[in-house]
Amino acid sequence: MKKQINKNLFNNTRLAYISKSNSDLIKSYLIFWSLNNQFFSKIGTALLQFFLKLNFPIKSILKKTIFSQFCGGETLDECNKIVLTLSKHNIFSMPDYSVEGEESEKGFEDNMNKTIQIIDFIGKSKLPFYVVKLTGLISYNSLEKISNDKNSEFSKNEYLKLKNRLEKIILSAIENNVSLLIDAEESWIQDSIDSVSLDLMNKYNKKSVFLYLTFQCYKKGTLDRIKNSFQISKKNNFKLGVKLVRGAYMEKERERALKYGYDSPIHDSKNNTDIEFNNSIEFCVKNLANISMWIGSHNEDSFIRIASLMNKNNIKKDDQRVWFSQLYGMSENISFNLAKLGYNVVILVPFGPIKKTIPYLIRRAKENSSVKGQSSRQFLLVKNEIKRRKILTLI
Ligand SMILES: Cc1cc2nc3c(=O)[nH]c(=O)nc-3n(C[C@H](O)[C@H](O)[C@H](O)COP(=O)(O)OP(=O)(O)OC[C@H]3O[C@@H](n4cnc5c(N)ncnc54)[C@H](O)[C@@H]3O)c2cc1C
Repeated sequence: MKKQINKNLFNNTRLAYISKSNSDLIKSYLIFWSLNNQFFSKIGTALLQFFLKLNFPIKSILKKTIFSQFCGGETLDECNKIVLTLSKHNIFSMPDYSVEGEESEKGFEDNMNKTIQIIDFIGKSKLPFYVVKLTGLISYNSLEKISNDKNSEFSKNEYLKLKNRLEKIILSAIENNVSLLIDAEESWIQDSIDSVSLDLMNKYNKKSVFLYLTFQCYKKGTLDRIKNSFQISKKNNFKLGVKLVRGAYMEKERERALKYGYDSPIHDSKNNTDIEFNNSIEFCVKNLANISMWIGSHNEDSFIRIASLMNKNNIKKDDQRVWFSQLYGMSENISFNLAKLGYNVVILVPFGPIKKTIPYLIRRAKENSSVKGQSSRQFLLVKNEIKRRKILTLI
């Protein structure tokens, strides 16, 4: 009987923070403590935005604190230290340039070229994945227009432009043996992203999965969409790459639905999102002959469930068709413990000039702030590790 994993696995803080020195840990403790404190968290984010607006020289403070907790560095070279540290623990990194360029033809071409440069670095570093946001390759407006009406002259031209840019990126990825993940965005631009991704999967996923499309399980009918894409892939003889997440734009989606008076595409409860997520995972695991899956989540129960499903279906932990992923600085207890057991783990490591990563940092800060007086999971884990190491006695 193979050993099942359970929730205790993710309480192993010794392994989770094995790459952190005592001073790194105290820094993380102070960061999570401030984020957990409603007063500090609110004042801190407001002051941060205020100081940045006035161009106050707070870059070096940020770099040593919240930026270093959630980002790999300002440049790819700065990320290298993290890439090497994680690789010692069998974790792959996925540096992600989390800065959106200017919305112009020149901006999109520059973005495409920058992406190709990064893929070159990723390939040379023998890292398996890179992530592409299609909003960086064509205007938001065009993505929306293509989603609404694929047959207008404008949409056809814009679609071709997008496809050509994405294809150039794909060709450089193929050359560097890097697989590409296409991020999911808001529902009103997602159709265009799905179309171009499936179109190109049909060309480049013939033998194995090289291109992954993201499915957001907070959307009603996600499993049906996966099944539909699966049918398309079988009919056209290509393999389907599924990046599975719960979804990041819930409030925005609901607000828009309310504003324009249509039914929200988002599930009415977290429980329904979880059911959609679990059913989608199950479908993918059962169809691994034609699907590769890449799961982006910080939900411990989800990983226990997937591991158990893999076990039940006799899928090896390091099967190259199943990848687990977290964001840097968010859930080391999941990444390090799963990697130690032999699962394929990749950590997304955002990088870019400090000022431009602020919106990303604010999102991470919000996710880690306390809800109804409870401490965030990360705060408690860091605290436990400090106690275990007996670094500070007063906490
Ligand atoms: C590596 C990685 C890549 C990602 N890439 C993308 C991407 O391309 N596109 C994207 O949209 N997101 C992406 N995300 C974010 C992801 O969609 C989630 O927002 C985030 O990971 C939180 O979900 P969870 O599974 O980690 O945790 P959980 O805490 O279990 O779930 C929180 C999520 O559940 C859903 N939810 C919460 N409350 C409700 C409710 N009342 N009703 C319905 N649903 C609810 C929301 O989606 C919320 O984000 C990515 C995340 C990771 C880790």
